[in-house]
Amino acid sequence: MQTIYESFLTSAEAQPDKALFRRPDQPDVSYAQIRELTQKLAAVLTGIGVQPGDRVAVQTDKSPEAICLYLATLQVGGVYLPLNTAYTGAEIDYFLGDASPRLFVCTPASLDQHKSRAGDALSVESLGASGDGSLAELARDAAPMTEAVAREKDDPAAILYTSGTTGRSKGAVLTHGNLASNTEALLQSWHYSAEDVLIHALPIFHTHGLFVAVNMTLVAGSSLIWLTKFDADQAVSLMSDATVLMGVPTFYTRLLKSDRLDRDATQNMRLFVSGSAPLLAEDHRSFEDRTGHAILERYGMTETCMITTNPYDGARKPGAVGMALPGIEIRVTDRETGKALPDGEIGAIEVRGPNVFEGYWQMPEKTASEFRDDGFFITGDLGQIGEDGYLRIVGRDKDLVISGGYNVYPKEIEALIDDLPGVLESAVIGVPHPDLGEGVTAVVVPQPGAAPSEDDIFSAIGDSLARYKQPKKIIFVEELPRNVMGKVQKAELRKSYAELYR
Ligand code: ATP
Ligand code: MG
Repeated sequence: MQTIYESFLTSAEAQPDKALFRRPDQPDVSYAQIRELTQKLAAVLTGIGVQPGDRVAVQTDKSPEAICLYLATLQVGGVYLPLNTAYTGAEIDYFLGDASPRLFVCTPASLDQHKSRAGDALSVESLGASGDGSLAELARDAAPMTEAVAREKDDPAAILYTSGTTGRSKGAVLTHGNLASNTEALLQSWHYSAEDVLIHALPIFHTHGLFVAVNMTLVAGSSLIWLTKFDADQAVSLMSDATVLMGVPTFYTRLLKSDRLDRDATQNMRLFVSGSAPLLAEDHRSFEDRTGHAILERYGMTETCMITTNPYDGARKPGAVGMALPGIEIRVTDRETGKALPDGEIGAIEVRGPNVFEGYWQMPEKTASEFRDDGFFITGDLGQIGEDGYLRIVGRDKDLVISGGYNVYPKEIEALIDDLPGVLESAVIGVPHPDLGEGVTAVVVPQPGAAPSEDDIFSAIGDSLARYKQPKKIIFVEELPRNVMGKVQKAELRKSYAELYR
């Protein structure tokens, strides 16, 4: 196995002068420049005392320097631990306490605030997005470290915290083998090569932006158009110089609002990927109408990297997440008994393969309870494998509504409501109900300028849904609460409407 760091070196040796990072209004950064800063930072990390296996926690702005810090951590055998840039003091305390890193790297602006956290076991340094920060200063005079600590496939490479959609974020321990094998499977499945230029507007503290987009680029030797935030018009103008976009579904919703999105603008593009949350089937269709490109939707999670993908060659189906990546097995089981279900039935999605993480950081019991005896990991998502062999996700196990003793899968009702005229999107949740246990409740976002009524929706879906699945109430809102990855925060919705039926 080649680690991600080793594969990056191979790319840098093959094409030292090629731009790895291209940025609007800032100079390009070449593979050789990234290698140099990485190796200098590796020397600095070693000087600070980062030993193989030590965690390096990082909460910095998105920058090429931050990617160098990631690579340098891998080079010295450390465990990279990126943190959401939105986390504030108390949250940082939790993560530092939980992960006990050897080094915490923050932004130059927050160094003073975090310096007090330093002690014998924890160093605190900063790294900025324009060559500034204490770590960058140390690196300036350091001699690049050229050797790398040897790593085996089962050695930990990173701890990535889950998004916290269903509860407190858990630290997923990912190995060098997990990252390398998943990158290889994706490169092959999506025909990603050194010729590609990827528009990168995702955060780099999450599996999508870091372990899909960046790892693939480092290994393939391609280039990134590096954006610190997503702006639809800007993305459209950049498409003539790019070949691939990887986005969360909200990117596509926003692109569809840009008048400039059309066939001409996307002519140079080869591939549009969506993931991290369900892509609206309607957006999939509109995007294809407008551009001629069928968005390729894939499915993955922090604990497993990517699991399934729609085919590169073959039908990319709206509402489906495709088939398992090469080397990965999936199955659908009865959520109570764990017995494998025949195709077509809805149950728990389970996965096994070289992509599946080692376990949750310092949570042996939680880890054990999420694995079957034969090594399959229980994803916590519910889905069904159709006769066409495609996996379709129907929602999370924790979002399943149990009303009057019957299971109600939110996605089925959401899909019907989303298709109605005047509706932009919806989220179906269960909230406490005195008779039914949980009452099915639909939270609906009308299309701009439209004002569908509760009765319109009841009468439109009444014939298509068994009575127990029909929402008891419909609530209209301007937008659904989402996190930075575009995930609808159903737990928040359940809290907001907890008193609805009391
Ligand atoms: P937590 O585990 O802390 O509750 P989270 O599950 O949202 O948070 P992530 O690991 O970032 O944290 O997200 C993985 C989840 O995202 C998957 O389990 C799945 O529910 C959802 N997801 C990812 N891709 C897709 C997709 N294409 N369609 C539907 N859901 C998706
Ligand atoms: Mg999860």
